[in-house]
Amino acid sequence: MHELGLCDALLKKVKQIAEDNELEGVNSVSLDIGMLSGVMPNFMADCWEAVIDGTPFAETKLLIRSVPGVAQCLDCGASFEADLEKLVCPVCNSLKLNPVSGRDMTITEIEGY
Ligand SMILES: [Zn+2]
Repeated sequence: MHELGLCDALLKKVKQIAEDNELEGVNSVSLDIGMLSGVMPNFMADCWEAVIDGTPFAETKLLIRSVPGVAQCLDCGASFEADLEKLVCPVCNSLKLNPVSGRDMTITEIEGY
């Protein structure tokens, strides 16, 4: 389960940001997950609960937003929103696609106190 490793890394990052900003605690972390990243938001939420248990961030909420990916067709050049379920060009049905965005996971906001 690589979501567990990702949550672990996320927790370290949140801790670092909290220290850098001298926060006493963190209410919530907003996370954008690209739909082409292969990361399942549900697993991510479960793993987050697991990694924060017993830490100073045990009350920190993880707010996940799925952002659509964008892919470009290498045959006809069309750009379109894509997800891993149907990676096919809507214009020419080509399977030769280049993911342009949506493969990342980004912390968009941290609400501390
Ligand atoms: Zn195409």
